[in-house]
Amino acid sequence: MLKDYEFWFLVGSQTLYGDDVLTTVAKRAAEMTDKLNASGNLPCRLVYKATVKSNAEITEAVREANYDPKCAGIITWCHTFSPSKMWINGFADLQKPYCHFATQYNREIPNEEIDMDFMNLNQAAHGDREHGFIAARLRMPRKVIAGHWEDEDVQKRIGSWMRVAVGAAFSKGLKVMRFGDNMREVAVTEGDKVEAQIKLGWQVNTFPVGKLVETMNAVTDAEIDALMDTYHAEYDFNTDDIETVRYQAREEIAMKKMLDAEGCKAFSNTFQDLYGMKQLPGLASQHLMAQGYGYGGEGDWKVSAMTAILKAMSEGQTGGTAFMEDYTYNLNPDAEYSLGAHMLEVCPSVAAAKPRIEVHHLGIGDREPPARLVFEGHAGAAIVVSLIDMGGRLRLIVQDIEAVKPILPMPNLPVARVMWKAFPDLTTGVECWITAGGAHHTVLSYDVTAEQMKDWANIMGIEFVHITKNTTVESLEQQLFLNDLAWKLKQ
Ligand code: MN
Repeated sequence: MLKDYEFWFLVGSQTLYGDDVLTTVAKRAAEMTDKLNASGNLPCRLVYKATVKSNAEITEAVREANYDPKCAGIITWCHTFSPSKMWINGFADLQKPYCHFATQYNREIPNEEIDMDFMNLNQAAHGDREHGFIAARLRMPRKVIAGHWEDEDVQKRIGSWMRVAVGAAFSKGLKVMRFGDNMREVAVTEGDKVEAQIKLGWQVNTFPVGKLVETMNAVTDAEIDALMDTYHAEYDFNTDDIETVRYQAREEIAMKKMLDAEGCKAFSNTFQDLYGMKQLPGLASQHLMAQGYGYGGEGDWKVSAMTAILKAMSEGQTGGTAFMEDYTYNLNPDAEYSLGAHMLEVCPSVAAAKPRIEVHHLGIGDREPPARLVFEGHAGAAIVVSLIDMGGRLRLIVQDIEAVKPILPMPNLPVARVMWKAFPDLTTGVECWITAGGAHHTVLSYDVTAEQMKDWANIMGIEFVHITKNTTVESLEQQLFLNDLAWKLKQ
């Protein structure tokens, strides 16, 4: 999917400099584009579109960018000076994510060569300030990245932002299939689906469990045989109850058929509405997540959509992204950890080793014991993400965490599990999370960064709260108080 998108490089200038300078600017912009594409640090293709020199050219380029579904965003830079009133009409119409790349062609100031001609050609330090002003004046959501274009870390930051912009495009086209409603009486998994569609683009609609059961009944043995071969290739079987595993395969095939028929990339279900089904989908939901579909338990369509979006943003990366739930704590002061799991449905993309298929009794949902994947999550820096509905606005909460190898084997725990240290520390982190209203359901990702989620929230126009190693409860309370006032003014 990343390869389906491109980003347009628009270089600002004006006609004042004459053709020689403009020809040099265009030649260099094309060279920079080629080298950036060849660097291997950009996940999507950069297209040098134009050196724009007038209001009409800029407006035209923005109109084309808005209209072209392949264009996931624009990246601008001013090699020379580009008077910013020229940009107002275009920027006022811009509907795509925008990155201002404050770079310059030459890395160093050349001692002998520098004269006023050099200064006139190489004045990004000057031009990018004029350019930045007008975006600030227009209150545009944007990403500013400064540094030399040949530096690997700068290229990676551009690449990282490209993933965010693709996440925004993915969000705007995302459809979520709901099997059953929200778990009865649960608050945080509720939300305003109309507001979510206005802000984030999500089409969240319900489909009957009866239709899923019909589709399950039409699945053939040959289809199940083929998926069982895949399960055998990817997982260890730690059960002799093959019929139960085959039933999960039947559920997976049927859900995938319904999702694909509607173009849905995410789904939710609930153990309270499994009418006509023998098992809560466990392995079935886990293997769908491994293929990139978002999932949310107990009717949680928000976390399902966010799981799909983070998976889309991190396409091709290998750390893993999973639907997660905070379950229980280890409050020993020498070893403070959170244990995350779900009753079945954690994505195996975060597994440290080959997952095992097991069948165990499930105390919730009044159905047969379901097959599920059991594994430990791997160690590494990660984030947990929660989207909540504050009434009138959406708040995205991100917490930095450090996942560890679980400190206990927990041989009788029949589900996938991830153990982590939350920042700034367990108890302060919990106090911050609860103060911000973060849900028990999250998306846990080793690939997507907090900076990327901040940029995504900025593009989508929603509130962002980040709990870091430096966050205190007092500073967070102050931020939330001010955010509340600011967002009331914005509405
Ligand atoms: Mn849950």
